[in-house]
Amino acid sequence: MRLFRSTDDASPKSGVIELRHDGETYRVQLRRVDTARRFILRVRGATRDAVLTMPRRASLKDAAEFAERNAAWVGVRLRKLPQQVRFVDGASFPLRGAQTRVVHAAGSRGVVWLAGDEQDERKLYVAGDVAHIERRVQDWLKAQARAELAAAVRRYAEKIGKPMPSISLKDTTTRWGSCSATGALNFSWRLILAPSDVLAYLAAHEVCHLAHMNHSARFWKLCRTICPETDQAENWLKAHGLDLYRYGAKGRGGPAKPATF
Ligand SMILES: [Zn+2]
Repeated sequence: MRLFRSTDDASPKSGVIELRHDGETYRVQLRRVDTARRFILRVRGATRDAVLTMPRRASLKDAAEFAERNAAWVGVRLRKLPQQVRFVDGASFPLRGAQTRVVHAAGSRGVVWLAGDEQDERKLYVAGDVAHIERRVQDWLKAQARAELAAAVRRYAEKIGKPMPSISLKDTTTRWGSCSATGALNFSWRLILAPSDVLAYLAAHEVCHLAHMNHSARFWKLCRTICPETDQAENWLKAHGLDLYRYGAKGRGGPAKPATF
């Protein structure tokens, strides 16, 4: 077991423990919480790691020992998570909710294109070096996500009479979208994997925060008015959202984000 301290502080707010158990290594993020009365360990599906919440005054040594005692449990929970799917030749992943296969195409350098075959299976052809397939697929998906989110945001912003806000894409694991205090919208590129209605709903949701910076009844009324698929999309995300983190290079955990909605 290795213990990393994020700062030289005697009681750092966060840090990472690497647990070794049965030949496997697990990452445990430490979170010091003022209101915590005991150690609480949980496994996160999106980042495929564990979080140990610890009381303010607890020692790192006790935290490490607690994690160590529960290493087998962490291993069992992590192994129960669905398999990670990397974007390699032959991999199958959902694109706008429809299963699509990655196919390496020899020849022309660095080109990515989508096509169906005789069996009508959707294929994403990736030319160029095999070693670059994953990055090319991911870059292509991000470009698709950006274009579709921008179009949807523009449409909904017009509906509520707001100017087009700036948008950015990230690989967030805590939320699908956010709206900063200055009105900049941020989205997870993984929304391109979900059905198009779900991506459109997230765009509508964040655009509505330009009018209401909260989740009040008025916010939801506006959201359902401009996007009738709101409840359906929320349900889809609750049921299948976590699954979107299985694809491609691993999502990052990282510290808590600044206060946004
Ligand atoms: Zn919101």
